[in-house]
Parts: sequence; C-alpha cells; structure tokens
Amino acid sequence: MTTRRDFLSKGALTAAGIGIARSEAYADEQRATQNLTPDRVKQLKPPAKPVIVTRVTGDQTVQEAYRMLLDGQDTLDAVHHVCLGRENDPRDHSVGLGGLPNEDGIVELDSCCMHGPSRRAGSVAGVRNIRNVCLVARKVFEHTSHVMLAGPGAENFAADLGFPRENLLTEDARKMWMLWKEGHSQMDWWGPGMADPAWKDPYADHPTPQPTMDLHGLASTGPGLSPGLSPGAIPRHPTPEWRQLIAMRTRKLTEMAADLGIEPEKRLAAVEQVLWPTTGTVHVSAVNTKGEMSGATTTSGLAWKLAGRIGDSPILGAGSFTDQDVGSAGATGTGEENIKVAGAHTIVELMRQGYSPKDAGMETLRRIVRNYNGEMNKVRYLDMEYYIVRKDGAYAGCSLWSTGATGHPREFVVHDGELRVEKCSALLEGSMTEWPPL
Ligand code: ASP
Repeated sequence: MTTRRDFLSKGALTAAGIGIARSEAYADEQRATQNLTPDRVKQLKPPAKPVIVTRVTGDQTVQEAYRMLLDGQDTLDAVHHVCLGRENDPRDHSVGLGGLPNEDGIVELDSCCMHGPSRRAGSVAGVRNIRNVCLVARKVFEHTSHVMLAGPGAENFAADLGFPRENLLTEDARKMWMLWKEGHSQMDWWGPGMADPAWKDPYADHPTPQPTMDLHGLASTGPGLSPGLSPGAIPRHPTPEWRQLIAMRTRKLTEMAADLGIEPEKRLAAVEQVLWPTTGTVHVSAVNTKGEMSGATTTSGLAWKLAGRIGDSPILGAGSFTDQDVGSAGATGTGEENIKVAGAHTIVELMRQGYSPKDAGMETLRRIVRNYNGEMNKVRYLDMEYYIVRKDGAYAGCSLWSTGATGHPREFVVHDGELRVEKCSALLEGSMTEWPPL
C-alpha cells in the first residue's frame, strides 16, 4: 500500500525524469550536526553555493529555483517557484488546484512566507477558489500593513489583485471526497482530540504492542545536551488483525470506488487517499551566497478537515519561519501538534542558541512527543517533518518517524549545487498509524 507521501517520495521523481542521486548520509554531516556557541552562530559566513531544502516535488522546479538563485534572483521568488509548481499541479492532492477538500467538499488553502533580507512576512488562511495562495500571502505584505488575512476577506483581496477565481475541486479530488463520505463512519476529525482526557483509542480493540517511551532527554538543556530518545522499536502496523482490517477496508472501498465511477487505474490511489489522507503540503527554505534567506509553505491542509480549520502552514513560526540572522525552517505533518510547539520558530531559535540544524529539528520533535508525555498509543497517530537550513548553508531534514506506511524511508530534497534526496533524521523507528483511524 502506498500513501500519498510515499508516492511523492518514490514514483514522482522518476516520473519527472530527474536523475537524482540518492545519498544515504548527509552531504555535509559535520555541519549539519555540529553544535556551536551562540557567538559562533553570529559569525557564520554565507555558503559558497546556494542551498534549497524541500520535500520531493516530482517536477523540475527545484532545479529551476536553484538556477534562479545562481542568476541572482530573490530567494523568495525562488522558493515560491517551487510552491507554484505544486499549487498548479492537479495531481498533487495536498496543495493548490486538486487539493483534497474539507468535509463539505470545499478546498480551503493555507500559506505563509517570510522574506529574510527585508524581514517581512505574509500569510493567508482558509482561502477558497484561489489556487496560488503562496503569492497571495506575499501580496499581503507587499500591498498592506497586515501580516495575515483569512477566509472570504483573503479571497476578495486576491480577486481584487487580479488572481482568478476558479473551482479548485478537480474531478479526481471530488470523487475521492465522495468515496471518503460514503466510506466513513468514525473516520473524521470530530470528537475529543488526543489531548482530551475523554479521548478513547479507536484501535483499542486492535491493540498494537506499544512500548512506553522513555522520557529521559525530552527536555534538553543546551547544545550537545540533547540525548536521543531510545528509539521506541515501534512495530509498524504489525498485528495480523490490523492487516486483515486494512485488506477488508481496501476491498470494500475499491468496490465503492467502482460504483462511484472512479476509473480502474485511479481506484487504488483514491482508496489510499481515504485510508491515509493526512499528509502533504510543501515547505521550501533557501539561502543564497549572500546569506539571504526565505521560506514558504503552502497546503490544502488535512483532507476532510472541518470547514474553517486552520493548520500550521499559514501560522508564521509554526509552518514556516525565517530569521535573516540565523536560518529558515518549515514543516509538513500534523499541523495541530506543530502549532503547539511553534515548530519552525523553535528550530530557528535553537539554532540561534547553537544547536545544529539536525539537533534543533530533533529537539523540536521531542517536544511534540513530550506534549503527550511520551505515550506511544497517542504519538503513533502523529506525523511531522521539518526542513531546515542555517544561514551558512548547513541543513537538515528531520522526521518524527523513520518510514512511511510502506516502510520506505522518510526523505527530503536538498539542492546545494547537486540535487539529491536524503533520508530524514528520524526520532522514532517505524511509521505512524494514520489518523483519522479506520
Ligand atoms: N501541516 C498541514 C496541516 O496541518 C498538513 C500536512 O502537512 O500534511 O494543515
């Protein structure tokens, strides 16, 4: 079974004909992992070559953005070039046109960006009918004294500036939504969340052996003092009952997909979107040879979310944060959890204190786990991936889990003169149990 994130990681690269060399290790392991003193951070020099970090996009935009940086174009133009590629691709169901809708069948988009050199920021949330929300977020700081616009106000603002209104719900996404609607019972976002004492584990009848996480090291005190969590040897959806359940659901949903008129070659993808709908989004951070940085995030948010739900992606400091003195970071994954740790801001602040990009990302992931006191029966439903670049070009990709649902490693893309896919540094071994549950 291939999830959306797995698809994006594996197939799309080859589909786009990009010859990306896979690298098992960090290209510059030392810089990515070396902690510094705060004074040393202040003295860091710009990199000799630009650096871009993002997720696997399946298109040529990362190479094109890199060329833009080499040509001296602005870092925000470059990161938005990558975002636009995803927003304009109807096959990408996590962002822009073709994004999966909310539970009412309406696509609502979120985006934010920060321009390091001018220290400006813009954001839009819950925008309907406008596909290129990454550019609308930028227009917020270019045309107003505000930082964030939401809902119909943001949509009208975009339309006033000439962004075309269009229906963002593609036929494929509409059918996936119909399949979800027809197939769902408790598979939605209603009910008490995991932080609520009244929360009940929907898998309680299908127990998965879950080791309790050793909380030692959750609150580290400084660079070099962040001992790793003992990787929790979490089995990936291991019980025969669980496998049976998935097989049964898949069969049933595939039949329903046929009834809904979903073409045979698209059925499996549609079923996967219903079974594992939670991840997507694109974040891009970049630094050029002058040390100028920008970051941007754009998303259709969690599939089947409640109308009006806003995730982390448009929240400056959570979904994206850039500080021209230090670095730039951003996130994809369970937005609610990332908001609670102000993920991107936390990472940048830790780097300011001297944490390496990798340690800053891992420490922030630990805080997410800490928010659930390390209870693995909750943490297993969470997902998070961070993309990080420091002003000297040191970078990291960090993920909560080491693999996607298929066991494929979690990866990120870096271009620093050579475009490649690297494995994320992962806090926990295994893969999440996706939410909403079956
Ligand atoms: N972070 C996004 C959100 O919560 C979703 C994702 O990255 O999958 O809206």
